[in-house]
Amino acid sequence: HKESYEKLHPTGPKHDYAWHTEAMDRAMQGGIDDVGLGVLFGLESYRYEFAALLMHAEHLEAVYGVGPHTISVPRIRRADDIDPSMFSNAVDDETFYKVVACIRVAVPYTGMIVSTRESRECRERLLHLGVSQISGGSRTSVGGYCEPEPEDENSAQFEVSDRRTLDEVVRWLIDLGYIPSFCTACYREGRTGDRFMSLCKSGQIQNCCHPNALMTLMEYLEDYASAETKAAGEALILKELGSIPSEKVRQIVVHNLEKIRNGSRDFRL
Ligand code: SF4
Repeated sequence: HKESYEKLHPTGPKHDYAWHTEAMDRAMQGGIDDVGLGVLFGLESYRYEFAALLMHAEHLEAVYGVGPHTISVPRIRRADDIDPSMFSNAVDDETFYKVVACIRVAVPYTGMIVSTRESRECRERLLHLGVSQISGGSRTSVGGYCEPEPEDENSAQFEVSDRRTLDEVVRWLIDLGYIPSFCTACYREGRTGDRFMSLCKSGQIQNCCHPNALMTLMEYLEDYASAETKAAGEALILKELGSIPSEKVRQIVVHNLEKIRNGSRDFRL
């Protein structure tokens, strides 16, 4: 929303609304064929932001033949210099869930991202509604990944609601019946832009995502997981192998999983 945006960015390089909003067009014109969108819900009416977000996605699809690769759904949360009650458009949980569900239905091919700024309970609900990417073990303060964050950390950009470690988040996803995937195969294979979208729209991408999820999860379990998470993850992988429809693909995955156990890395379909 132009007027709200300009009010909140009175000066500085981000002040130019058009330059900011057209960044994805410039990226696509410059040859970057995977771009992400997202609005910070709560600054303006969620109805306006929701419609504008989908119109932006529609614009990219119409002009470049490829819609957004991902959509992030941040909303105003408490941070050291923000009091959400000051924002009359702040979105409550129930409304937020409806917004996410409607985005999911409107752009079924697009990855949806939610951050650790949302609570565990909220993220669990959002996963059921179609969120496909979540972070874990995030630090929002400057240098936070190099040094432990003190209790009264005051350089944090946002308050993190979900403070669990990555291992705890992975275990939680496994317990919920999801397969935590660390796959980046499409980027590595150059499956981006319209190539990626055609696979997505036909549903064929699932033949890559599912096996890749199992193999990348195995790498995580071997290299980083606690003993409990490793046991739970291996049981999940064993169960999921049975749902790979192609016998040939299943054999490849079984073979690669064995290689991963023996120290090899970076397999993908
Ligand atoms: S194959 Fe991997 S990178 Fe490609 S869409 Fe599936 S999960 Fe994402």
